[in-house]
Amino acid sequence: MPTDPVQILLIEDDPGDAVLATRALEECPDRFAVRHVESLGAAFDVLSSSPVDAVLMDLSLPDSFGLAGVDRVLAGFPHISVVVLTGLNDSQSALAALERGAQDYLVKGEWSAETLIRTLHFARQRNAIVQENQRLLAELQRQARVDGLTQLMNRQALTTEFEREWQRCARSRAPLACVMLDVDYFKKINDVHGHAAGDAVLRGIGECLRDQCRQTDLGARYGGEEFCVILTDTGEDGAAVWAERARQAIESRVVRVNDTTLCVTASFGVAERSDQTTFPGELVDHADQAPLMAKQSGRNRVVGFREMVGTMGGPLGSSADRLAEWTATDVMAPLIAVLTTDQDLIGAARYLLELRAESAAVVDRDGRLLGAIGEEELVGRLTTCESDAVTLGDVMNRRPACFAPTTPARVIGDFLRRVALRRVFIVDGDRPLGTVSRTQILRRLCNDHTARTPRSTRGDASASSATTRESLAQLQDQIESLLAECAQDGEPSPEQLVAVGSRMQCLIEDLLAATPARERSDLSAVTLQCLLG
Ligand code: GH3
Ligand code: MG
Ligand code: MG
Ligand code: MG
Repeated sequence: MPTDPVQILLIEDDPGDAVLATRALEECPDRFAVRHVESLGAAFDVLSSSPVDAVLMDLSLPDSFGLAGVDRVLAGFPHISVVVLTGLNDSQSALAALERGAQDYLVKGEWSAETLIRTLHFARQRNAIVQENQRLLAELQRQARVDGLTQLMNRQALTTEFEREWQRCARSRAPLACVMLDVDYFKKINDVHGHAAGDAVLRGIGECLRDQCRQTDLGARYGGEEFCVILTDTGEDGAAVWAERARQAIESRVVRVNDTTLCVTASFGVAERSDQTTFPGELVDHADQAPLMAKQSGRNRVVGFREMVGTMGGPLGSSADRLAEWTATDVMAPLIAVLTTDQDLIGAARYLLELRAESAAVVDRDGRLLGAIGEEELVGRLTTCESDAVTLGDVMNRRPACFAPTTPARVIGDFLRRVALRRVFIVDGDRPLGTVSRTQILRRLCNDHTARTPRSTRGDASASSATTRESLAQLQDQIESLLAECAQDGEPSPEQLVAVGSRMQCLIEDLLAATPARERSDLSAVTLQCLLG
């Protein structure tokens, strides 16, 4: 089958060399079509106006000397194969030309027509491979950044781009907002209409968001049925307007799957960067807390983080006053131990029972929070299906509610008051530090109340020591009765011991709260004695 001849551009100012090369190539008129120019300038005119497959170029030209010419051709026309013609004593330049991207070189006076043709043939083949590799690499890089289903950015790419945008806005003090959205009752779509229908819905939402985004906004599928959009040069109010438009667009969109038409809604949270927001992840966390509130208050709505925090609590009462003074760190229970994704469900259930905990953090090998596992997830899975091959990574909640250690305890208290969640994680960057639950807040408030209640004996050192001793005696009594209770059927099991231990921990916390500050150092020694005794 006849193919088009390979288009060769010969750049050579020496007439003798030019004739030799042209003649050699013209011996195969079906394979090569040669054009000849004498300068780099003239070569650029040809390269920019007509198709050229390969360049055969001399290194010393009237308007260019040495490798600079090769660099210029390759920079302007990277897809063209370049073969360099060098003098006898110029092997150094020839090798350097290869390193800069030329495909081959020929030493003048040493080549025959046959070597010239073969060199050009292989140069073209090699170049085609290089081009294909570059194309594949670019495609792989694109795929690594893009979510295959929606063609929006994936979470990884968003994190990188957001970091850059964050720096830019910090320098110019431009506003920056984050919108998080979570599709409402999405699981039902999968359950009732199948996964393919769910996928079609997610694609539709991706299109809605893309339609609403400006060129400079960053829209991403954040995971599952959650999306995140970073709006540049936009504050929370502007972001709320944007989110409301996107909410309406999603609500009014109809997705057709086979004979069925599906409509979905989504719950939105928006937050803007303030001077207190110190890193990009914190802004995303803020925006991410608001949809939980949106879900609680009926779904298919937009909730602003500022508004959410601002309206929390109402006028301060005496206990709310206390919560306003404390931060998350003051009320949290530190994490004692954590689970990893590869653990099995029964192991995790046993662990929660032993620690008398309702939930635990799931971390990676470096201690970064990946999710949370709680009674809800475990009961859900262990009672409904085969769970042998299932690991925590499959069932954990990948988006537990997280707050920074500096968050006012009042914000967390109000958050827990409004949502169905029992606890939130306190996270420093991506490291979990502890949890705050409703129970802990109540305990902390009660203990604080006890510590603050004026006693007639307060200020009387011996009397208050007597109170401490009394409390310690009570503690000892309670511990003994707990141990006696669990040892009724012989030796207490490890689980029973842990349960007793955790009850003791609560008693000690209460005792600590009831003890005047100056006696606390004595207390630890006495408590230890009491426990060991
Ligand atoms: P809520 O209104 O409270 O957000 O309820 P929900 O059902 O949307 O929330 P839930 O988190 O229980 O369900 C999310 C579901 O999204 C579960 C998961 O199977 C599904 N999902 C995650 N990724 C994909 C995906 O790529 N395609 C499809 N079809 N489903 C997905
Ligand atoms: Mg020359
Ligand atoms: Mg979700
Ligand atoms: Mg959802």
